[in-house]
Amino acid sequence: MALIVQKFGGTSVANIERIKNVARRVAQTYSQGNQVVVILSAMAGVTDDLIKLASQAASEPDRRELDVLLATGEQTTAALLAMMLKDMNYPACSLLGHQAQVVTDCVYGNARILEIGTQRINKLLSKNKIVVVAGFQGQDTQGNITTLGRGGSDTSAVAIAAALKADLCEIYTDVDGIYTADPNICNKARKLKTISYDEMLNMASLGAKVLQIRSVSFAKRYNIPVHVRSSFNEEEGTMVVSEDSGMEQLMVSGVTLDKDQARVTLKKVPDQPGIAAKIFTPIAEAGIVVDMIIQNMRPGGKTDLTFTIPRADFKRTMEIERKVAEKIGAEEVLGDDTIAKVSVIGVGMKNHSGVASVMFNALARESINIILISTSEIRISCAIEEKYAELAVRVLHTVFGLDSDICSDT
Ligand code: ASP
Ligand code: MG
Repeated sequence: MALIVQKFGGTSVANIERIKNVARRVAQTYSQGNQVVVILSAMAGVTDDLIKLASQAASEPDRRELDVLLATGEQTTAALLAMMLKDMNYPACSLLGHQAQVVTDCVYGNARILEIGTQRINKLLSKNKIVVVAGFQGQDTQGNITTLGRGGSDTSAVAIAAALKADLCEIYTDVDGIYTADPNICNKARKLKTISYDEMLNMASLGAKVLQIRSVSFAKRYNIPVHVRSSFNEEEGTMVVSEDSGMEQLMVSGVTLDKDQARVTLKKVPDQPGIAAKIFTPIAEAGIVVDMIIQNMRPGGKTDLTFTIPRADFKRTMEIERKVAEKIGAEEVLGDDTIAKVSVIGVGMKNHSGVASVMFNALARESINIILISTSEIRISCAIEEKYAELAVRVLHTVFGLDSDICSDT
């Protein structure tokens, strides 16, 4: 007998027919002799609709009340599934976030889970109940309802799985698993059987659509195996696991693309201590997140400094840096908001040399100019011109042997 946490996303509970499908799956897992805790999202589109409603009710909806409202989406699906299961003669019981003892901080709309008391869920499990928990919600230490940020029911599921020391956390969604690249860009992308927590964290641009990134951090911290799979078929999906658990031995596991990028360059900056701090402090204070940074030496005690930021922050950053440039005596500020970042990701890089040169040669063969490079232990990213972005993904996918026609093991 295993303790299995099953989470179903919005598209999997989009209407009564689909919730019935979920009920059948849950009932089947239970009938096989497992203990089952189910975490549900709101029906697809409901959270968006509730946000719209709130914006009609108030110009700036109070954040506490907004969370009270948003939590109703998951309350609806939890109640519907529990009553369906009972109707099918399965012993089920729904719990809202606070009843499941999900305690969070008090950041409405983006709360973090502090702890989960397991007494109530465990008591129900010991009575052989199927426990159906409303995802995405908890309560702060004062008893106010909070929500965990968009996509937060993934985090509810993994956190509850961790607290219960579950054997497995299954995330049922509308895709078959995690792919080596976005199949919309690269038609040779293939589904991975396994991926490590760290690779998944690095694949944010692929994975974030499937899993809330915070849930992956949770899974990693508590070593919870997460099975990402489709609720519309019986196929095995992708296991997100720790690195040492017999994963496929790939040098690169995925190629990702992030088009939400812009570049800012300060030319001929005086090369003195404290200058980088003067350049980056004002943008940090404006809440703008800097990603890649490079600094180039020039003769005559000057340097050029280039960095990337999310495209939406481009104009603001240019304005801020023009002022900074004047103050510190830099020659000029240049910018470009048509760049993209392609990355190759893989824990295999730790043991293979030459990954960077393979990547750079592949881009060179297509005459794609690399504007910026950044690396981490398991990732190499290149900023390139946006118009080459999709081509770069396909070329890298091929050169690292990820194309589905080469890898016949899936
Ligand atoms: N219903 C929430 C959302 O749409 C939470 C979730 O589905 O994970 O963001
Ligand atoms: Mg989701």
